[in-house]
Amino acid sequence: MRVSQTIAQIRAEVCDLHAHLTRWGLVTWTAGNVSARVPGEDLLVIKPSGVEYDSLTPESMVVCDLDGTLVEGEHSPSSDTASHAYVYRHMPEVNGVVHTHSPYATAWAALGEPIPCSLTAMADEFGGDIPIGPFALIGSDDIGRGIVETLRGSRSPAVLMRQHGPFTIGPTAKAAVKAAVMCEDVARTMHLARQLGPIDRLPATAVDRLFDRYQNVYGQHLMEESNE
Ligand SMILES: [Zn+2]
Repeated sequence: MRVSQTIAQIRAEVCDLHAHLTRWGLVTWTAGNVSARVPGEDLLVIKPSGVEYDSLTPESMVVCDLDGTLVEGEHSPSSDTASHAYVYRHMPEVNGVVHTHSPYATAWAALGEPIPCSLTAMADEFGGDIPIGPFALIGSDDIGRGIVETLRGSRSPAVLMRQHGPFTIGPTAKAAVKAAVMCEDVARTMHLARQLGPIDRLPATAVDRLFDRYQNVYGQHLMEESNE
C-alpha cells in the first residue's frame, strides 16, 4: 500500500480516537492528544495544537517525523509532539501514545504517588502499581525521557508524570487510548477506596497470575472469537 494511503487511514483513525477522550471525560478544552506511528516509516500522526475537539477532522491531523518536525499538515503539531516522538524513537514496540490531564489520574500525579495495585482490574490491565515518572518541564526531551525510563521494563502501559498527568502507550493507538481510559477509571476508584480506609495491595503472586491470564489466555480467547 502506498504511504499516502496509509497516512490517510491513520489520520482518520487518530481523529476518531480523540472522541474517546471527550466521551470518557478525560480532557478539558483543547488539552490532551493521541498519536500513532506510521508503520515502517519514521513518521507519526498527531492532533494539531489548539484545535477544539468538535472541530477535529482527519485532514486537520498533523504528520511529523520522529524528531517532532512538521512534515505535512495545515496546523502546527500538538505541543506534546516532542514527547511522543521521543517515545517512538526509543520504544520500537510502541505504536500509539496518549496524553491527558484526566482529573483523578492527575490528582495522583499532583501528589507524586503511584496508584497502588489493589484491584483485580488493575492487575489485569497494568500488572502492578501505575508508576510515577519524574517531574519534567515541557520544551525539551525531558518528558519523553521520563516516560521511557519509567515504562521500559514495566508492565504498566501508563505513567503518571509527576505534577503533570498521565501518558499511556500501546502496541496500537487504540490500546493506548484504552489504557488512558482504564487509568482514569482505577485512579477514581482507588481515590474513593482511600476515603474509606487504608488500602491493601494485592499479593505479588496474585498480580502475576491475573496479569498473565488477562494478557495471554483471555486475550487469545477474544482473538479466537473475533476470528470465527
Ligand atoms: Zn500535559
